[in-house]
Amino acid sequence: MSNQKFATNALHAGHDTTQTAGTRAVPIYQSTSYVFNNTDHAANLFSLAELGFIYTRLNNPTNQILQDRLAAVEGGVGAVVFASGTSAISTGLLTLLKAGDHIVASSSLYGGTYNLLNVTLPRLGITTTFVDASDPSNFAAAVQDNTRAFFVESLGNPKLDVLDLKGISKEAKAAQVPFIVDNTVATPGLLNPIEHGANLVIHSLTKYIGGQGNSLGGAIIDAGTFDWANGKFPEFTEPSAGYHGLVYHEALGAAAFTFKLILEGLRDFGGALSPFNAFQILQGLETLPVRIKQHSENALALAEWLESRDEVAWVNYPGLKSSQYNDLAKEYLPKGQSGIVTFGVKGGFEAAKQLTDATQIFSLLANIGDTKSLIIHPASTTHQQLNEEQQESAGVTQDLIRLSVGLEDIEDLKADLEQAFASIG
Ligand SMILES: *Cc1c(COP(=O)(O)O)cnc(C)c1O
Repeated sequence: MSNQKFATNALHAGHDTTQTAGTRAVPIYQSTSYVFNNTDHAANLFSLAELGFIYTRLNNPTNQILQDRLAAVEGGVGAVVFASGTSAISTGLLTLLKAGDHIVASSSLYGGTYNLLNVTLPRLGITTTFVDASDPSNFAAAVQDNTRAFFVESLGNPKLDVLDLKGISKEAKAAQVPFIVDNTVATPGLLNPIEHGANLVIHSLTKYIGGQGNSLGGAIIDAGTFDWANGKFPEFTEPSAGYHGLVYHEALGAAAFTFKLILEGLRDFGGALSPFNAFQILQGLETLPVRIKQHSENALALAEWLESRDEVAWVNYPGLKSSQYNDLAKEYLPKGQSGIVTFGVKGGFEAAKQLTDATQIFSLLANIGDTKSLIIHPASTTHQQLNEEQQESAGVTQDLIRLSVGLEDIEDLKADLEQAFASIG
C-alpha cells in the first residue's frame, strides 16, 4: 500500500512505468487473453501458485492499475472493478450471500439498489430489512440470526442524508457482519468510509470518479478488516467447491474477499469492465481531487442562492447551516459535501416538471457527477416506480428537483435557473 497522499495516489498509484514500456499514460491493454509460457505456467496460474493474467473477464493490466489505484485512494488491501456500479453491487452481494441470508439496509438508497434489494434478491431467497439510517440502533434492532451484511450509502442519493458511519459500524461489528458502504456521491476525495469502520466500499465509477459522463464502471474496495472466520461465513473457511477446494480465508487472508470476487464473482457472473472504460475512468480519477473541491464549492454557493429565492419552498444540501445533516457533515465531510443539491419548487409536481423542462445549461438526464450540470425530477422519472410511501422514505417528494452541479461558472448556473423560474411564472 502507498504511503502517499490522496492527490498523489490519484495520479500515480498502481502504475509502474517500467512495466508498461515507459509509457507515462496508463496504456489500454485491449486484449481478451494472455499467452502462457507453457502448460506448466498455465497450470500454475489456474491454481494460483503464480499470479498473472489469464483472461480479461477475470483481470486485465489496465483494469489492474485502476484497481490498485482505487485501493490506494480508499485505503483498502485490494479492489475489483466491474462493468457498472450496479454490477459491482449485485456481484458483490451474490458472492457474499446465499439463499436464506438477510441484509439490513438504509432506506435511503439509489433507486436501482433499492429495487435490487427489495424485489430482485428476495426472488433468490435473500431478503432485506430497510431501516431509518439516521439512528444506528435501528440497524441493531433489525438484526436476525441470518443477517449477513449491513448496506448503506455514505451520502444518500437523492436524500443527501449524511450517516453516522462510526455508530453504524459499531453495530455491524456487534452483529459480526460486514459493513458495506456505497461511497459514490461523497467520493474518496471527501470521505474514506474505511477510516470509519467500513469493511467494503462500493463505487459507481460512472459518476464523480470517471467524472465526465462518458463511461460506465463500478468497483468494490476491500478494507481487508473483516474476520471471515467468525463462523458466519463457512464459504471462506471450508474448501470451495467453486474453486477446486481453495480455502479462501486460509490461503488469502485479508485479501480473501477480493479474490473471491475475481475467482467466483467475475468468473461466474461475468460483469467485467472493458479496458477502454478503465482507461477513461483513470483519466477521471487523476483529476478527481481538484474537481470534487470545485463541485462542492459550486453546489454550496448554488444551494445558498436557492435558499434566498421566493420560488423555492426548501433546499437540501448538507453544507447548509439549515440542513439537519450539517453537524454530521462537519464531522464526516469537512472538506466539502459534493455536488448534489435538491430543492422543492413552490407549486409542487407540475411546477417542478416545468422548471426542469426550462433549464438550458442544466441538462435533463438521469445521471450525476458529470463535469456538466444536470437536472432531474425524480418523482416523475428515477423514482416513479416506487409508491408514495417508498418515495417518502427514499427522500423523494413530488416537488423535489435534483441538481448535479457541474463545473460551469456559478453566475451562469444562477442565471440559467433564474430564467427557468421566470418561465414558470
Ligand atoms: C449510479 C449509482 C449506482 C449505480 O451505478 P451504475 O454505474 O449506474 O450502475 C449505485 N449507487 C449510487 C449511489 C449511484 O449514484
